[in-house]
This record gives sequence, structure tokens and C-alpha cells, in this order.
Amino acid sequence: MKIISTPLEMQHAALAMKRGGRRIGFVPTMGFLHEGHLSLVKIARHHADVVVLSLFVNPTQFGPGEDLGRYPRDFERDRKLSEAAGVDVLFAPETAAMYAKDASVAVVEENLSRGLCGASRPTHFRGVVTVVSKLFNLCLPDVAVFGEKDAQQIRVIRRLVRDLNFPVEIISGPTIREPDGLAMSSRNVNLSPAERKQALCLRRALDRAEVLQRSGERDAARIRASMVEAVAMEPLATIDYIEIVDDETLEPVARTDRPTLVALAVKFSKTRLIDNAVLKPGT
Ligand code: AMP
Repeated sequence: MKIISTPLEMQHAALAMKRGGRRIGFVPTMGFLHEGHLSLVKIARHHADVVVLSLFVNPTQFGPGEDLGRYPRDFERDRKLSEAAGVDVLFAPETAAMYAKDASVAVVEENLSRGLCGASRPTHFRGVVTVVSKLFNLCLPDVAVFGEKDAQQIRVIRRLVRDLNFPVEIISGPTIREPDGLAMSSRNVNLSPAERKQALCLRRALDRAEVLQRSGERDAARIRASMVEAVAMEPLATIDYIEIVDDETLEPVARTDRPTLVALAVKFSKTRLIDNAVLKPGT
């Protein structure tokens, strides 16, 4: 596995691979890898000749007072896991090399990124969309793989690719969970043992939504109320949002007759966890 730490070297390597006729699969991450990330590597492997995984805790997608400083990092651990997963190129740039001090260009998605996470993190998607654009320009992927765990993010990235004509295919991978149902996240290590237990309320809330949907309930307010109740049972949990939105437009819906995204964000002190499920009318 090749380790690359400068943007220019990454771009040269990607150009060389492309000239050699190799299909590049790309998995962007913020590191502290877990099975969720590694499942995306597997998918990338399946669709490409070489897999590039980036490790970059992108400061511009964190707002003031968020957990940038507490975001877990362990390069050596990530290196070993990447190598074992069959990553061909590990791209781990320094922040200073990624952003000029006087950087003045950003990429902004102006519709899908407004609600859900964008409402409580108003600069988040500007940071994500900009860094993903930069990473696409550096890694030149034919295919890039993102997790459904970040449901809004993947929809925003698909819009980015469509609207700016990036020559890359976006593929999604399902959310990988701990045996008890908690969605894997690098942030889970920041939970205290009590918070870790109570964090199951995210999955429980989604289970409630799915059970109600299966039983024929289509009233979004009633489904939402049941989810709120599941989270409110846990004293350490603070609801950031629980929303029921159209799966395509991400606009709030009153009824779940069409494919609907049920998404929630819950805070445990400074640690903010997200999870989601898609309700299909036939389920
Ligand atoms: P992150 O390092 O958290 O920014 O995530 C990097 C990529 O991994 C994103 O595309 C995420 O959606 C994806 N991802 C994070 N957690 C999971 C998970 N539990 N299952 C599948 N994909 C995930």
C-alpha cells in the first residue's frame, strides 16, 4: 500500500493510474476507521482496479464549538486497517496543504443541504461539498463510495456530481451496525459507558418508525411522536432533530405514502450521533 501525504503527489499518482488505464475507486473518510468504512472499501474494490482511501479530518466542515478537537485520530491504526482491507493508496494530507491560508473559493449546494443536519450545522455541507470536490480533483476517481449512514450527505454529493458534471459514479453502501444495533461511527469512542447504552435509542426510534409503517400507519406526525418518545426516555440524550422527509427532495412530509427518509440526530454531551432509515410505501 502506497501512502501519499501531499495533494500534488496524489494528483500525479492518480493521473499516472488513469493513463495506465486503471479504474480508480475512492473512499473518502475522516479516519479512525471501523467496519463501516471498510465495507465501503470492499464495494470500491468490486467496482475498480485500484482503491484510494483518504484520511482527512476536514476542519471546514466543523462549526465553532463542535468536536473538531476531540475527533478521534490514530494514523498507525488506520494504516494497518487500510492495508489489511486491501487499500492500494492511502491519501492522508495535512490541513495546511489542503487549504491555502487565503483560500477564497468554496462549493455550495443550496437546496438539499438546508434542512436536517444543515439546519443545526449551517456551514457543514459547504465544508463537505468543497472538500469532496477537491478530493475528486486530486484522486480522479471513476467511482466513489459513500455510506447511507450519512443519508443527507450522499444525496448532496449526488447533486454536486450531477450539477457540476464530475465524471464520477457515486455508489452507496448500507449502514454497518454494532451487534446491538448502534450505527458504527468514529465518534462512538467518545461516548461514556452510560451514554453508549443510551445511544441505542437512535436505533430504537427508527425501529418504532419501521414497525408503525409496516402496521399501516402513514401519518408522519404520529410516527415522529413515537420516535421522540423513544429518545426522550434516555436522560443523557438531547434531540437535535427527528425528521420525516421526502427521500428525494428532503422536504418534510405529512404522510409516508412515498419513499420517505426518517432521520435523526441526538447529542450526548458534546457527541452528536446520527442515524436514518428509508420507509418504503410497500413495507
Ligand atoms: P466519516 O469518516 O465518518 O466521515 O465517514 C466516511 C464515509 O464512511 C462516509 O461515506 C460515511 O457515510 C461512511 N460511514 C460512516 N459510518 C458508516 C457505517 N456505520 N456504515 C457504513 N458507512 C459508514
